[in-house]
Amino acid sequence: MDELRQYLSENAVALFGLVSGLLSIAVLLGLREWQGRRRLRSRLAEAHSELSDLRQRDSLTGLVLREALEQELARAVAAADANGRQVCVAYLGIDGFRAINDAYGLRVGDAILREIASRLSGWLADRPHVARLGGDEFVLFCDTGSDGLDALAGRLQALVGAPLQAEALNLRVGTSIGFAVYPDDGARPRLVAHAGLAMRSVKHTGGNGHARFDPAMNVDHREHSELLQDLRQALTLGQLQLVYQPKIDARSLQVTAAEALLRWQHPRRGVVSPEVFVPLAERHGLVRAIGAWVIEEACRQAAEWREAGLRMRIAVNISGHQLRSEDFVDQLLDSLRRHGMPPHRLTCEITENVAIEDTPATRSAFERMRQAGLHVSIDDFGAGTSASLAHIRRLGPAELKIDAGLVKDIEHSEPARAIVRAIVQMARSLQLHVVAEGVESEAQRDVLVALGCDELQGYLFARPMPANVLALWASGDGPAADSDFRPSLFDPTAPAPLR
Ligand code: C2E
Ligand code: MG
Ligand code: MG
Repeated sequence: MDELRQYLSENAVALFGLVSGLLSIAVLLGLREWQGRRRLRSRLAEAHSELSDLRQRDSLTGLVLREALEQELARAVAAADANGRQVCVAYLGIDGFRAINDAYGLRVGDAILREIASRLSGWLADRPHVARLGGDEFVLFCDTGSDGLDALAGRLQALVGAPLQAEALNLRVGTSIGFAVYPDDGARPRLVAHAGLAMRSVKHTGGNGHARFDPAMNVDHREHSELLQDLRQALTLGQLQLVYQPKIDARSLQVTAAEALLRWQHPRRGVVSPEVFVPLAERHGLVRAIGAWVIEEACRQAAEWREAGLRMRIAVNISGHQLRSEDFVDQLLDSLRRHGMPPHRLTCEITENVAIEDTPATRSAFERMRQAGLHVSIDDFGAGTSASLAHIRRLGPAELKIDAGLVKDIEHSEPARAIVRAIVQMARSLQLHVVAEGVESEAQRDVLVALGCDELQGYLFARPMPANVLALWASGDGPAADSDFRPSLFDPTAPAPLR
């Protein structure tokens, strides 16, 4: 034992060196193993992510698939919410792709898809904002707002439509594009579907164009044809109905007019909005018959109210298809005559986008309405496509009806106020009456009155209601929506303030 102690003390330094050397080797070996394992783990993670990336990618074009796009879209929508911007989803379908596949074979079809995918992803600077949804359909999103859709469509058409080489063939393809803009055209989970519906509506009308989503498209094709079948019978089965929404004089707060709005009481679906079935009726040639019924029914109702002592003008909405039909004004005057109504008591509301058409048919309809003394109103004025002052003057309307979209913004947006101010000034210079629609709050009402609007219409005063309810309401028996509101006098000796 003493020998061992002596040996240790004599060789302490050497032994210490040996032990620490062994320890270092062990540590180094452990470290290496640990590093090796870490490298392996990170390689595994990379492989996993590559694999899931591959699973989320389309094997033909390398573009991401729908799920990955939806995730990115959710992030973009959250960012847009935070900074008050818009997000535009574009849905592209190649026109006649099946015919190309049939004519030239799948290899040519595949080459076309690869080339288009590479053009789109190149343009979007390689961000995963473009996906292939299968077949010949692509979806992308960007931060273009509603104002830039035409320009965006032009850019996409040019990208896709430029000549391309596929298997030694020189080809060109057309594309149908549908847009849905967040937040106006739906919540995030519906955006891609809505843009798809818009794309399909372009295909139905021959393709090679673009359209923005419209709620009327929100009916799938089976539903669409069922609805159309039912709509063909709706008139004869007495399922159509008119409800009436008053227009109020901005200063006296008296009822000056009631606008007739169509409702379809569907036996299974309940009440169907005119925003769904009027465009359907327009596309399938039913709107003239429906429009003629609206005019006849509104005139009958107006005469009945007049008999009962309720004096106000009645307004009907006129579709562009109706306006363009040759006998429209004659039929209208017939209805008025049958019910003993003077023409100036009927307002024809025609939307601005129809009024600016400026075709011989619409010009002559406006001229005939003017000659007949009908009261013409330009509806949804300022909604987008703005008619020139000179054009409006030529059409000779009596009234401009400011679009509800402008009214909605008027309280908080100086540009919206500036537009309304300009519309009122323009109307003054043409001696036109100005009505603001969609008035929902007292603050909006106050701004509109201060800007000089003559009449107001909106939920603040009254919602559209059946004729008998309106009669009660206007005579003071019904529920008034606003405490300041004074209904028109239900008294034959007090004429409503008609100008
Ligand atoms: P429009 O002529 O511009 O009618 C105004 C629409 O706004 C109506 O919707 C009305 O109910 C709604 N509205 C009224 N006040 C307010 C408000 O304060 N806030 C909001 N958010 N909305 C308000 P409705 O009845 O669904 O009609 C929609 C459109 O359908 C009409 O727009 C018109 O273009 C069309 N339409 C309705 N009836 C007929 C018709 O008989 N013939 C034709 N061709 N089109 C019609
Ligand atoms: Mg209207
Ligand atoms: Mg309107």
